[in-house]
Amino acid sequence: MKEKRMRQVVAILFAVMILIYLSGCGKNEAETSPVNLSDAETSENGKEQPQLEKNEDSEMDVAEPTEDVQLEGTTVEADGKSEAVADIDYTVVKPDESREIMVIMYHNLGEKNTEYGRTPESFRADLQRLYDMGFRTVSMSDYINNNFEVAAGYTPVVLTFDDGHVSNFNYLEENGTLIIDPNCVVGIMNDFEKEHPDFGKNAIFYLNYGNAFGQEQYRTQKIEYLLANGYEIGNHALSHDDLSSLDAAGIQKALGKNAKLYSEEYPGVEMTNLALPYGKRPKDEVLRNFVRTGEYEGYTYKNDVILLVGWKPTYPIYNVSLDTNSVHRVQSGDGEMQLTWWLDQYEIHPEKRFISDGMPNRISVPDARKDEVNPELIGDRELYFYEIENNVE
Ligand SMILES: [Zn+2]
Repeated sequence: MKEKRMRQVVAILFAVMILIYLSGCGKNEAETSPVNLSDAETSENGKEQPQLEKNEDSEMDVAEPTEDVQLEGTTVEADGKSEAVADIDYTVVKPDESREIMVIMYHNLGEKNTEYGRTPESFRADLQRLYDMGFRTVSMSDYINNNFEVAAGYTPVVLTFDDGHVSNFNYLEENGTLIIDPNCVVGIMNDFEKEHPDFGKNAIFYLNYGNAFGQEQYRTQKIEYLLANGYEIGNHALSHDDLSSLDAAGIQKALGKNAKLYSEEYPGVEMTNLALPYGKRPKDEVLRNFVRTGEYEGYTYKNDVILLVGWKPTYPIYNVSLDTNSVHRVQSGDGEMQLTWWLDQYEIHPEKRFISDGMPNRISVPDARKDEVNPELIGDRELYFYEIENNVE
């Protein structure tokens, strides 16, 4: 009798253990979606995450984002955007959203690398290196609006293309149908994004009026394609005007007429930022105000950001050292102070990079650097300071 009772107890205990074990398995499966895992299990699961890194063979050094980092509270959606699902582990990610962001300046693609031109192969290599080093594209609008939808541990980057060269966007006719030239900027970016969805395909094209992308017959079609596919257009003055040589009326015509014509032709489009032709602007303060905002034939334009030509990385809008009237860009190329050079610098000094917390609505900055942020420029986002050891070099 006693022995039978004993067997019953053992059987019940066994059943309970099986139940506990099974529920444990279920939990593990649920956790393959990366929600706030912070123990040793994390990295195990992380390696099985197919969506985390497509280039599994890339060797990341300590300064670069790791799979573990990405697991700490963020998930990457199919569209390459990230979504905060929980607080990150600040001791692992060490985000610093006050630091440098590159706005990269390209012009045409061509047969040779020149001062402003890049070959399609070099452009592809640039994208690959940016990707491998943990840079992820954001649009100019997102930069202006402090909307950094890149995963935790990564660095936003803005790609800009001046002058509307046909090599930025070229159509080829193949058997009676139009295809996007796989060696033009749009073709290369589309293809790269297919292989690396989390890189995004954000780019802004700074256009004059009339000659955008050559191929006059496809002009409207091209601009409509860009706008429908997440690309942006920005103001580069009506006729690539040298704004330093114009009076108030001239500046307002050069900027206002260009913006007005585009907004009329493409409803809903507003040019809210400017790449200065030749990088030139008037010296006179009053005239400079017209570069920022003005009016042409009843149309009011306002440039939230004014981009120079070259030569160094910039900062987020809310960094106290940024002047939105003169935002620096990093020029493409392999020379000193050009893109390749700056990427080399970031391999030596990764701490200078903006490191995302993966939460677009929060701006995370180490305590020691809180003076870098102007709280009045962060909009309705949360400003979050945190203690971190050895964060200052
Ligand atoms: Zn230009």
